[in-house]
Amino acid sequence: MPYVQSRYNVGRHSTFRIEGHLANDQRPTANDLLADERQLTTNDGLAPADDRRLTTDDRSDELFMQEALRDAQRALEMGEVPVGAVVVCDGNILAHGWNRNLTGNDPTAHAEIVALREAGAIVGNHRLGDCELFATIEPCAMCAGALVHARIKRLVYGADDPKAGAVHSVMQVLNHPQLNHRMELKGGVLAGRCAEVLQSFFRAKRESR
Ligand SMILES: [Zn+2]
Repeated sequence: MPYVQSRYNVGRHSTFRIEGHLANDQRPTANDLLADERQLTTNDGLAPADDRRLTTDDRSDELFMQEALRDAQRALEMGEVPVGAVVVCDGNILAHGWNRNLTGNDPTAHAEIVALREAGAIVGNHRLGDCELFATIEPCAMCAGALVHARIKRLVYGADDPKAGAVHSVMQVLNHPQLNHRMELKGGVLAGRCAEVLQSFFRAKRESR
């Protein structure tokens, strides 16, 4: 039976978190990881000191989100909707992505997709089961689908997207009951800054009309 834990923390640092079992199609060692991850969920998500390679702690989540925010800034400088993403593997940033829809004439070039493509090319595999993805905003349905195809281990995102978010805001693509793959989820990391980048972009766009 899949183990699922949901938690909403409402406060200055609001977080959204669902954590669960890895799917049966994962490698056998996933069971070991799972036992450890399950322990972590009872510990406010903070990894024991000797076990940090399994999951990043809240502080390093913020550091990786700062990197994703830098990528959002790159999108902004190119006139794109400022969303950024990084793929992290074994505590290191493997790939960066930022929105390139306009510059690439590419409807699929969301930050998450760009980062996943780069990570896949670097790893030499379309499966990224040991990787985490950090995105400044809740992924849309397309990106959430790509995360499932990539078998991403953990998603961390910043601001919720009430208009298109496919983690929990508009629909639930990730950890859908009828999909096999289970992914650890955490939202609300540096959410204020992630939202502000987008809000100021759209505000400036409205004012320039
Ligand atoms: Zn997307």
